[in-house]
Amino acid sequence: MSTPEPEWSEEDQAWMLALAEYRAGLCPACRRPLRECADPDADGGYTVPSPTRCHATTALLIAQEQYTESPQAGALLFHTERRG
Ligand SMILES: [Zn+2]
Repeated sequence: MSTPEPEWSEEDQAWMLALAEYRAGLCPACRRPLRECADPDADGGYTVPSPTRCHATTALLIAQEQYTESPQAGALLFHTERRG
């Protein structure tokens, strides 16, 4: 009879802790490490290329606009499907 494996090994726990610490250091806006994007020396160091349009999100937003008057419209769950 074998002993059941613990759900998280010590190594797993160490990795999850490292991941949490890494995520804690990420900028909530751009997802880069804060030490990079929030560094005063980074001022003026980024550019914003022209946006790419997501056609799935375009279709989703158009569909959602038709439900803005619905009760609790924020509770409506939408998803997109590729036309067949
Ligand atoms: Zn940032």
